[in-house]
Amino acid sequence: MTCDQTDQSEVRQALIDATKAALGEAVNTRLEGGLYVVATPIGNLGDITIRALATLARADAIYCEDTRHSRKLLSRYRIDTPLRVYEEHSAGRERPRVLAALGRGDVVALISDAGTPLISDPGYKLVRDAVAEGHHVVALPGACAAIAGLSVSGLATDSFYFAGFLPSKTVGRRSRLEELGRIEATLVFYESPNRIAAMLEDAVDVLGVRQAVVGRELTKLYEEIVRGPLDELAEWANQTPPRGEVVVLIDGPGTTDVSDEEIVVALQRTLANNSLKDAAREIAASLKVSRRRIYELGLAIRDGRDGGK
Ligand code: SAM
Repeated sequence: MTCDQTDQSEVRQALIDATKAALGEAVNTRLEGGLYVVATPIGNLGDITIRALATLARADAIYCEDTRHSRKLLSRYRIDTPLRVYEEHSAGRERPRVLAALGRGDVVALISDAGTPLISDPGYKLVRDAVAEGHHVVALPGACAAIAGLSVSGLATDSFYFAGFLPSKTVGRRSRLEELGRIEATLVFYESPNRIAAMLEDAVDVLGVRQAVVGRELTKLYEEIVRGPLDELAEWANQTPPRGEVVVLIDGPGTTDVSDEEIVVALQRTLANNSLKDAAREIAASLKVSRRRIYELGLAIRDGRDGGK
């Protein structure tokens, strides 16, 4: 064995000892009764904090969305705290029971299938009511797909807007994108893999060709991060529909100094040989403005209005 290998194994052993000691300390710290909102991994089961494990092991009950799903995480760490269900459909019925347990001084943990509870997951009304009744409410922070995606996106992080899931139908989705398009911040979305191509297509039309990032299967074996202009990402998603879980991040509006006059000139040139739809697509890609803006100016030209001015 070389000297280097000995050093490495000593370092590893020291880490194991220190982690055990930290966990031992956390497990033996007194837990006050209250609602503990505990983040769990978004894929990689190693992404859980020492304090989260200690709290889950010490709680009187753990409320989760799906007991079969959460049991996998808990059995990995040999935690056998009773599991109860708190999910969207039964939340109304279950909430008074959780509040009663808090009233008795119990330690109640809330987890979701993945990541941080309440972030596009159940728990908001429970926390609201627990706060209103004066119970102790404690955050145990950890994994969150939105933050994980943002942290590696390469997009601005000084200001971001978490928009959750967009409406699934195109009319609602476009109108929501229209509202969000004005926000001066990186936009963060959750999306189902079945809808990602349609969502990116609508985003190009409504927001223009902004820079964007798709984070797929973050922290898991097939993690993939795809970056590029929205139109290229929409094409990528159309050609190779991504599987698994995805988070989508889109750059803020930035400043566009393309005037209506420039767009009208481009339209007059392009419309000679193209439909308005194709012209809008082509000009959007070259001038980096939204297809919608081009389309509206194109309609104005067609109606004989003066380039929309
Ligand atoms: N509470 C979770 C959190 O803190 O991220 C989010 C729950 S929400 C119901 C589930 C959505 O989060 C998925 O549809 C996907 O958009 C996103 N998501 C969850 N895990 C992910 C992962 N490993 N990679 C990419 N996106 C993920």
